[in-house]
Amino acid sequence: MLTLADLRTQGVPTLREVECLVVGGGTAGAVAGIAAARQGLRTLVVEQLGFLGGTQTGALVTPMMPNQVAGRPLNGGIDAEINARLNALRESGVWHDGNRGWFNPEALKLVLEELNVAAGAELLYFTVVEDVVMDGSEVRGIVVANKAGRSAILARRTIDCTGDGDVAFRAGVPCEGGDAETGTHQPFSVRFQLGNVDLARLAAFLRSLGRSDVLEDAEGSAVPLLHSAMVWGRGWPLEPLFRKAVQDGVLEERDGDYFQFFSMAGRPGELAFNCPRISEEIDGTDPFHLTRAATRGRRAVQRYLAFCRRNLPGCEAAYLVATAPLVGVRESRRIRGEYCLTAEDVLGGRKFADAIARNNYPLDIHTVRGQDKLRLVHLPEGEYHEVPYRCLVPLHVEDLLVAGRCLSASFEAQSSVRIQSNCRAMGEAAAVACAMSLTQGIPPRRVAGEALRARLRELGGNL
Ligand SMILES: Cc1cc2nc3c(=O)[nH]c(=O)nc-3n(C[C@H](O)[C@H](O)[C@H](O)COP(=O)(O)OP(=O)(O)OC[C@H]3O[C@@H](n4cnc5c(N)ncnc54)[C@H](O)[C@@H]3O)c2cc1C
Repeated sequence: MLTLADLRTQGVPTLREVECLVVGGGTAGAVAGIAAARQGLRTLVVEQLGFLGGTQTGALVTPMMPNQVAGRPLNGGIDAEINARLNALRESGVWHDGNRGWFNPEALKLVLEELNVAAGAELLYFTVVEDVVMDGSEVRGIVVANKAGRSAILARRTIDCTGDGDVAFRAGVPCEGGDAETGTHQPFSVRFQLGNVDLARLAAFLRSLGRSDVLEDAEGSAVPLLHSAMVWGRGWPLEPLFRKAVQDGVLEERDGDYFQFFSMAGRPGELAFNCPRISEEIDGTDPFHLTRAATRGRRAVQRYLAFCRRNLPGCEAAYLVATAPLVGVRESRRIRGEYCLTAEDVLGGRKFADAIARNNYPLDIHTVRGQDKLRLVHLPEGEYHEVPYRCLVPLHVEDLLVAGRCLSASFEAQSSVRIQSNCRAMGEAAAVACAMSLTQGIPPRRVAGEALRARLRELGGNL
């Protein structure tokens, strides 16, 4: 943590002075950039990779999980705008249940960039946060490292969208991680894509095994939506093939802890895989853990490739298109904020006056402990809960908001609200809250949640 005086004595040059600094241009951050710039704030989005979208594009998490009641998406605003734009480009498709979020990650990179640039946000890629600049309890900006060396970016308001709460943590915000019993995190996944797959033959094979979720069409998409999965012990149709492959030495036992694939909107002949799962050394803030996950993941991908070529009709001539540049981290740090969302709030469908997002995705815990490697607990049919603004407002530190998977929530509640549509809604809400706080000359903590909610509704939010 540095002060403004430290910057002077250490000779750290100031790269930019902005009104709204968005740190991390991922799922929440890319939307925060659009929203802040549309509110008229001089906005800079700082991102370590060379593109926007974070986990969506960099970790290849291409299907957004459904978050809707009776076919109606629970979040509107920029989330809906992005989905509509991808749909219009035929780079996305609508699932049978009305979910619009099945997309081509390359198209999403472009759409997010275009929306940021059109709104007037400036982008700074290939830049990593190194430290935080503080004036007492107020966050005044960050110190970054990039090809040009070390420099400061000063800001009146900062939104931490790093997914790991990197800025909040360095600013001294209390953080938690992992489950309540042992602090164990959810596993990572190193996702990958295969090309040259005959989707029609694969679909016919899956249907012959009795899978009912192999769909012919995804509305608006030229590519049929294809989905399948296998988890040991659930009696799913691919299990015998997995068992045989383990006996033959093609797969390892752990490769059947979680296996899942989807076809990809806008990309005929490709499959995107939600695996391999990495279950050891899973602290998303430890660079060695991330490095070993990437190397272990790539080895496991080779096993899956061999398995698919041997066992899945339509995949005989498949090749590896890509392994994800980012390790897929489901949860790492969670900040402690003015309110901590709980599993009871989620499952009880709790509503809040200062709501900024709505969710009905289940508690979805991939666990590395015990026998049962996947726990899904659904809300009652037709029910949803809300996420209060206070989950984005960190304790003790001013002029900083946090948006995305590192919000203030319990381990269980985070497993539900971390899905992409909610992260986007949090990014938009945080940016609008920054604009309101600047207009009113008050810290974000004092922005009235009910007024923020009303403003978000004016901007197209379903709140
Ligand atoms: C394997 C896996 C499967 C999932 N499946 C689904 C699914 O099917 N559907 C769904 O809706 N959700 C799914 N999720 C959840 C969802 O994708 C994530 O929770 C969500 O995308 C996280 O958004 P975020 O904005 O918090 O973080 P991210 O999207 O990861 O954005 C963080 C950004 O910050 C950047 N960054 C981080 N640290 C720094 C730093 N120090 N300096 C500069 N930049 C930095 C990163 O590069 C990244 O761009 C899944 C997640 C995982 C990991």
